Amino acid sequence: MKFAGGIPQHPVDTTDKSFEALGLGKTIVDAISRVGFEHPTPIQAAVIPLALTGRDVVGLAQTGSGKTAAFVLPIAERLTHGKGVRALILAPTREIAMQTKAFLDLFGSEHRLSTACLIGGVRMTPQTEALHKTPDVIVATPGRLLDHVNRGHVKLDAIEVLVLDEADHMLDLGFLPQVRDILRRLPRERQTMMFSATMPDTIEMIASEFMRTPEQIDITPQGGAAEGISHRVYVVKLEDKRKALLELLREELGSTLVFARRKVDADWLFHVLEREGHPVTRIHSDLSQVRRVKALQTFREGEHRILVATDIAGRGIDVPGIQHVINFDIPENADDYVHRAGRTARGRAKGIVSTIATWQDLGMVRQIEEVLGEKVPRCTVGGVEPWEELEKRPSRTRRRL
Ligand code: AMP
Repeated sequence: MKFAGGIPQHPVDTTDKSFEALGLGKTIVDAISRVGFEHPTPIQAAVIPLALTGRDVVGLAQTGSGKTAAFVLPIAERLTHGKGVRALILAPTREIAMQTKAFLDLFGSEHRLSTACLIGGVRMTPQTEALHKTPDVIVATPGRLLDHVNRGHVKLDAIEVLVLDEADHMLDLGFLPQVRDILRRLPRERQTMMFSATMPDTIEMIASEFMRTPEQIDITPQGGAAEGISHRVYVVKLEDKRKALLELLREELGSTLVFARRKVDADWLFHVLEREGHPVTRIHSDLSQVRRVKALQTFREGEHRILVATDIAGRGIDVPGIQHVINFDIPENADDYVHRAGRTARGRAKGIVSTIATWQDLGMVRQIEEVLGEKVPRCTVGGVEPWEELEKRPSRTRRRL
């Protein structure tokens, strides 16, 4: 797997257009080809020409569609160094913010753009020092940005471009009051780009209140989840969930992301798997930033085959080549299922999503099936007796990709 300048790369669907044809200048196009991107992805092809004209854009797209470059490239094209903090990118999690900074460092180098990354969970001082040097761009999680603004470390009155990345995740995480607070402090005269995988009412509200007749671009896959995913449900007794997980890990090799609902469950699962001799690491929001980065790095590099995560920490994990997502606990809603499933089968890759469910989860399984628009096959795993659903199933054999 290639890894250029700190940004991960994996197969994505691209258009047959060229980056020049989208209106980007030669220096940026050269930087793009150095990274190895040959053609723009659909979201890039649609967003970049609009963004270059300064229009407001609402992009409906998931992580993995190339949306980071869709907003970073026009920013890198239009801004030049040394005129104050002119672009602000709000991201829901530290991992996404750091990845966006890596894109900006890479593509902004021709215009000597400097980017400060303001994320929670790490010391403020290095961030304050970065702000003293007046960066051109700020990438931030909303809470930490407000901390700095309220302490007078940074002013937002020169912002010309605002990006709300993964807006639906930001709202899920309860950031709406902070996002509103930040929006009210920005100059009215600016360009706003908002990206979201879904379009709940709150997102529409933000668009109508804070954006100027945005152009909407929708490239989310029909049916809610990426193609190339094989979905499976294992209905077992509560006391057999652990055994089912261990068996699934034995049967399906390859890079695996295991989701637990709560942090304590993620910790418990991590210890269970470690005791069983699995190469496992974990990520949840109680861990320090250093440990989270380390966990992602060792998982990405293959030192740990298994990563145990909670929903919030698992959001936006962009690790190429995750072959298997296991829902040890069923997600709380169908949207979370789609987000979890989206960690595998990135771009054109194939992947498996296995859900371990008890009879109490069957209502949620049906909701998930509704969103997916397909019946998810009930499968069995060696040595674990399946829970018999009342409805007759035609077959309970495992379906392979
Ligand atoms: P994102 O949706 O921004 O998280 O990007 C998903 C992945 O696609 C990242 O690993 C990028 O490095 C990669 N990527 C983005 N744009 C392109 C492109 N035009 N060609 C090839 N890979 C790309």
